[in-house]
Amino acid sequence: MSKEILDHIVISEQQFNRASLYINHLQRGLVDFLQQPKRINIVNFPVELDDGSVKSFRCYRVIHNRVFGPGKGGIRYHPDVTEEEVVSLAKLMTWKCALVNIPFGGAKGGVICNPKELSTNELRRITRRFTSEFFDVIGPHTDIPAPDLYTNEQTMAWIYDTYDVMNPGENNQLVVTGKPIDLGGSYGRNEATGQGCMYVTERFLSKRLIPELTEIAGARIAIQGFGNVGSIAAEAFGKQGAKIIALSDSGGGVYAEAGLNLDAVIAFKQEHGCVVGMPGTLTITNEELIELDCDILIPAAISNQIHAENANNVKAKLVVEAANNPTTPAADTILEKNGVFVIPDIVANAGGVTVSYYEWVQNQANEQWDLELVNNKLKKKMDECVDTIFQRWQAFVCGEEKGTDKETGEPIECPDFRTVALVTAIERVANATLIRGIWP
Ligand code: NAD
Repeated sequence: MSKEILDHIVISEQQFNRASLYINHLQRGLVDFLQQPKRINIVNFPVELDDGSVKSFRCYRVIHNRVFGPGKGGIRYHPDVTEEEVVSLAKLMTWKCALVNIPFGGAKGGVICNPKELSTNELRRITRRFTSEFFDVIGPHTDIPAPDLYTNEQTMAWIYDTYDVMNPGENNQLVVTGKPIDLGGSYGRNEATGQGCMYVTERFLSKRLIPELTEIAGARIAIQGFGNVGSIAAEAFGKQGAKIIALSDSGGGVYAEAGLNLDAVIAFKQEHGCVVGMPGTLTITNEELIELDCDILIPAAISNQIHAENANNVKAKLVVEAANNPTTPAADTILEKNGVFVIPDIVANAGGVTVSYYEWVQNQANEQWDLELVNNKLKKKMDECVDTIFQRWQAFVCGEEKGTDKETGEPIECPDFRTVALVTAIERVANATLIRGIWP
């Protein structure tokens, strides 16, 4: 068997091409247009480090599509950032925003750096330089960044401040979301991705597709990644009565069949920088966590963690993709064959961009909504999103809708949830492209 290609662009094209088999009348040229990023911005700049030396950093800001509104998407700081990864993540943002029906397009940013080796002052200098280099790319009504891997509300505060100094006299709070509350951030934004992940799972389980798993209470859950998304998801699922039996970060994982005490894990990580070594737990690797005997597996870290080599060993009944792109197309096929359901990233982690949109709306009106209002709106949005995909999936299951093999014209098998979600999102973007007259 040939080795699986773990290339970000190839994977996003495979997912798109699979979805297009279920969309009738999608013109060839329009397919090409929707696959391509609108604009790729690349900048290299030097930054002085604390020891007086100077290092060059390569940065990206990609706008994939703005048919529905300003570009929207996080900025990640990571040594493995590549142009291909940022392009594929920007594309994912286009589908995600379209799926949850918010008036944003898709964008993403990245800086190739290792934040673990950089001081706070160095990160601030990099962020300020990133913002000034891209000051004519990002903007309150053109492209609005947010936090992602190894960036947070402090990063957003620096971006806002730099942009505001360069554009005086405007309401510039809208230029980034995920800001600290005191700087125009929204209540609930920091928690939104993990919280939304829980709402989506709760709604999905209520459809009773997995007879032995119909609610979160009592479920045994393994979570890869204990940053913003992973830690908040752990808390949100824990509050609903789930047992978090395993957690991990980049240093490895911990396992306790009786369930982990989250407050103790957070305190241990704060003190030691890593969850490994937490008293009363067994140490496991990140690879072992993926294959753990559990009910729900939540990848909440980096991409391509469930792939052709390990998908057959996944024992969870449900995978909830809190991270972006954690499952490869080959793994999708294996999981489906094995009866493992997957709630795809564009649904599972859409809570983040949804509350980012609420933050942007609040900033426009100079308002501050309370947490209850934000969470009620978020839950409604997530429930609607799951219902839409579930109903569409049922239409395929009962034969009301069909996919077609483009070469033979023969009907093809029923799509999985990722494909149904992509079909819905791509159709919306394609229709808007035609209605706006962008497509000649
Ligand atoms: P974060 O930087 O707060 O946390 C990342 C976590 O992943 C850390 O615990 C880190 O130790 C762990 N990690 C890093 N490399 C790892 C590896 N090789 N193996 C296992 N764990 C590893 O980032 P975050 O904001 O929590 O984002 C996590 C994922 O969620 C990313 O895929 C991101 O794109 C996605 N996401 C985030 C948001 C958001 O609002 N922050 C929204 C949507 C999607």
